Amino acid sequence: MPDVIVVGAGVVGAATAYYAAEAGLDVTVVDRGPVAGGTTGAGEGNVLVSDKEPGPELDLALLSNELWRSLAGRIDFEFEAKGGLVVAETPAILEQLVELAAKQGVEHEVTRDVSGYEPHLTPDLVGGVFYPQDAQVQPMLAAARLLSAARERFGGVRLRTGVTVTGFLTRDGAVTGVRTSAGDILGGAVVNAAGTWGGSVAELAGVHLPILPRRGFILVTEPLREPLIRHKVYTAAYVTNVASDSAELETSAVVEGTAAGSVLIGASRERVGFDRTPSTTVLRRLAAQATALFPVLRDVRVIRTYCGFRPYCPDHLPVIGADPRMPGLYHACGHEGAGIGLAPATGRLLAQLLSGERPSLDLGPFRPDRFEGDR
Ligand SMILES: Cc1cc2nc3c(=O)[nH]c(=O)nc-3n(C[C@H](O)[C@H](O)[C@H](O)COP(=O)(O)OP(=O)(O)OC[C@H]3O[C@@H](n4cnc5c(N)ncnc54)[C@H](O)[C@@H]3O)c2cc1C
Repeated sequence: MPDVIVVGAGVVGAATAYYAAEAGLDVTVVDRGPVAGGTTGAGEGNVLVSDKEPGPELDLALLSNELWRSLAGRIDFEFEAKGGLVVAETPAILEQLVELAAKQGVEHEVTRDVSGYEPHLTPDLVGGVFYPQDAQVQPMLAAARLLSAARERFGGVRLRTGVTVTGFLTRDGAVTGVRTSAGDILGGAVVNAAGTWGGSVAELAGVHLPILPRRGFILVTEPLREPLIRHKVYTAAYVTNVASDSAELETSAVVEGTAAGSVLIGASRERVGFDRTPSTTVLRRLAAQATALFPVLRDVRVIRTYCGFRPYCPDHLPVIGADPRMPGLYHACGHEGAGIGLAPATGRLLAQLLSGERPSLDLGPFRPDRFEGDR
């Protein structure tokens, strides 16, 4: 019998399994699809500190940033410590960016000449803030390699793909395992790492988590012969959109190159359920915003587009920790547009909890029962 059953083989479930195995726990990971078949397979892979307001999410991001760097030194997945550049179209916006950077207290450089960082940016910008700690991973590869590295290094990790969790096993009000499409699995604890479906999995255990899908589209360009874009580049509107509660369509220019040569263009946010219908309105807006920022992209072809569903929580914070309403149940979900960046810290903190250690960050702001009063 495993010590821990992790529901979900996305990047968060994979990081949780990795750190739990490192702590000496025996882990079974269960996913109804393949590894990274959920939102992890739709993410851009940014590991950002630049877009976080000071507070618990930034603390989590800083811890995660360190952990990604350390993992990248030990495990082979694409990791680029390239830095992020937030650009301003007006002096007033630049002032706001500078104020935010000072409040965040993270490493940053203010510049009035963004061409030094990105020679192909439009000359219409008045400046920007560069964040050297921002980085990028290939999220699907990272999830897969975290799982294989955990198995090879620590043993005790079993992966069961194509297996759907359909219910929970309990005794005396405590979780003792899960019911699945392939039979019951008993375990000492269950971690709900089901991302955007974390609310549905919680419901199977009879507890409430208000996680909703927040759709985002990405445009992928043909591979470029030479890298035209060196960093992650985005406009200040992105920070506002990330923090917004609106269900309506919001877009902002987010542009970056990848190791494979393609440029990824985002970002859109809207709450329209799990609708995958391509939206030409959104795709056009993203393309127009990206070419306004980088005129050189006008001559580059888009080869495909895709969308995914960010796991949105009403207060924009993930749900991490033991569920006081159901002993034996833990959650690691609801990371919205930052789950890739925040995965290692989430996994490490849960592994600490599961092995009876004191978590190295206060989990109070992320507690699973914090929405009870809202119902
Ligand atoms: C367009 C877009 C761009 C993004 N860009 C970034 C970015 O640059 N940086 C960043 O940090 N984040 C980004 N994100 C967000 C990020 O992708 C997510 O926060 C993250 O992938 C969530 O990972 P996860 O492991 O929690 O969930 P998922 O990857 O969705 O994994 C959950 C897994 O649970 C499984 N599951 C669900 N229900 C069950 C069940 N009943 N039984 C068994 N298995 C089940 C699913 O099959 C799935 O594989 C982006 C998201 C989108 C949509």
